[in-house]
Amino acid sequence: MTLQVDQVTKEFKIRKGLHSSKLVAVNNASFELVPGRTTALVGESGSGKSTIAKMILSLETPTSGTITADGVASVGRGRAARNYRNMVQMVFQDPFASLNPFHSIAHHIERPLRLHGKAHTSAEAHAQVIELLHRVNLEPAEEIAGRRPHELSGGQRQRVAIARALAPGAKYLIADEPVSMLDVSIRLSILNLLSRLQREDNLGVLYITHDLATARHFSDEILVMYKGTIVERGPSDEVILNPQHDYTKLLLSAAPVPANHGKLRESVRAELEAEAHQGSTDHDQFGTRGLTRTED
Ligand code: ADP
Ligand code: MG
Repeated sequence: MTLQVDQVTKEFKIRKGLHSSKLVAVNNASFELVPGRTTALVGESGSGKSTIAKMILSLETPTSGTITADGVASVGRGRAARNYRNMVQMVFQDPFASLNPFHSIAHHIERPLRLHGKAHTSAEAHAQVIELLHRVNLEPAEEIAGRRPHELSGGQRQRVAIARALAPGAKYLIADEPVSMLDVSIRLSILNLLSRLQREDNLGVLYITHDLATARHFSDEILVMYKGTIVERGPSDEVILNPQHDYTKLLLSAAPVPANHGKLRESVRAELEAEAHQGSTDHDQFGTRGLTRTED
């Protein structure tokens, strides 16, 4: 069972005054997401990464080609559509825009639980909310559940978004630049959290990023996208250490990964240990002080 992106193309019509032209945002892309594996989609801004994410999430319809999750089409209706949305969830780039300022944290997570029939009573829903908050290391969970988004730091908000994505029992997680808007100091702890949940729940993850270093560390496979086309793909180490395509070489020369490799590996290990021993570092640092936007 996999999520299959099969020869998918997306064209946008661009109108300029009387003229209209076609923009091929994604050109004949094929790849699969496999449970238990992380696939990185790497490319510069405008290369078509988010358009792929949106098509996988059924927010855009492919011009041609198909996407299926465990055999269920992304463009179905009714029960099939609900089934698909159950399986395929997303973590957004912007932790400020993705949560509603008027609703409590509990409300954000309860909604998908109810919608997808995971909880039938308020007590059931509440218990599951608390369990999910524990899983993403948001403590004290009872207290966090009652807070509003503005009372949390950016990193904590992204943890809420991750808990919400897991709530319906997702099998595939699409993370579109999930840490690019967060403070550098907490990026690794969020990526480590995603990595732990991916292993625990055997998720198939698409990690979209323009950062080759974290792509290498957190992914089994890397897809390199250039102007709408996947120009290179392979096991992460192979793509980074022995790039074949000129564009991959260019990306690597702009942000050399091998030189930083040891350092990043060390800090990843330290972060992993911190995460295992004492919960989220971003929470420990900022949570109780009710940090506002300055952190981000
Ligand atoms: P990335 O996420 O890699 O930065 P996007 O997928 O957002 O790239 O965009 C790919 C290309 O498609 C860009 O040239 C962008 O301007 C264009 N594009 C994205 N969405 C639309 C849209 N709704 N209408 C027209 N053009 C779009
Ligand atoms: Mg994007």
